[in-house]
Amino acid sequence: MIIDVHGHYTTAPAALGAWRELQIASLKDPGRAPKVSELKISDDELRESIETNQLAKMRERGSDLTIFSPRASFMAHHIGDFQTSAAWAAICNELCFRVSQLYPRHFIGAAMLPQSPGVDPASCIPELERCVKDYGFVGINLNPDPSGGHWTSPPLTDRHWYPLYEKMVEHDIPAMVHVSTSCNACFHTTGAHYLNADTTAFMQCLSGDLFKDFPTLKFLIPHGGGAVPYHWGRFRGLAQEMKKPLLDEHLLNNIFFDTCVYHQPGIDLLTAVIPVKNILFASEMIGAVRGIDPQTGYHYDDTRRYIEATLHLGAEERFLVYEGNARRVFPRLDAALKAQGR
Ligand SMILES: [Zn+2]
Repeated sequence: MIIDVHGHYTTAPAALGAWRELQIASLKDPGRAPKVSELKISDDELRESIETNQLAKMRERGSDLTIFSPRASFMAHHIGDFQTSAAWAAICNELCFRVSQLYPRHFIGAAMLPQSPGVDPASCIPELERCVKDYGFVGINLNPDPSGGHWTSPPLTDRHWYPLYEKMVEHDIPAMVHVSTSCNACFHTTGAHYLNADTTAFMQCLSGDLFKDFPTLKFLIPHGGGAVPYHWGRFRGLAQEMKKPLLDEHLLNNIFFDTCVYHQPGIDLLTAVIPVKNILFASEMIGAVRGIDPQTGYHYDDTRRYIEATLHLGAEERFLVYEGNARRVFPRLDAALKAQGR
């Protein structure tokens, strides 16, 4: 199987964005707040948005199943308060659930959390549990910076986050560490803020001892780990100076990287530097980079081509990247597949 662990519902019907616009407008005029029940999207509209987009590309590129979460840049946790995020997360998660019901062999959900700057992350637990228990979701997206580029929350190693980690461990779900829209003009959302956050999350974990407290906690760092693989020597050296254990032992039982790196030399480096057991196939399709690379003639985000062309990966390593590691990191995904006879 080829499992893509990083897909967002970037192609949701326009009614979703229109509802969000009304919700944002109502922050200044609460009388205009839209009701959740006012958003009406039919199954046919969902099918249309998926079959002509993600599913068409999955068939074209040969991937079988996508772990599907709400559009990351739309999470925008910095907007409004907890109630704003709670209503928005509930709507977005339900749409991903409905897609997973319409295409149970091709999509399975990962939850957006109703995070809000300055609000205790424990407030996200009811939505997390609803998504796991009622929707069969297999993971969550955890935003280390709900302020949207101002980094007002404590680092991921702080006890601030522990209530969520306890629930993740209890339900055996990993978190993809994933920020949302930047509202800081210094950081372009997908070109800087995302990659900064990937790098920052890794360094926070390196500086702390989080996995001593949570030995089974798992983080998936997307976009190939930001700058991490490229600067692996720097990170190893910093860990050494901080008297931390070797990174293999300190972090690599708990931290994993995806393959959303959009050129061959990047994938060559990722797979040469990071142990194969820590790399999970992903494309983030249809996402931030939608064009065709004039150097190859193929879409930048057609990441399977790079894995296929990586000379130092043999059949067993490719199996781990495409399927084996995803089943290990997402145990609920493995159970759901087994229940389908896969
Ligand atoms: Zn993403």
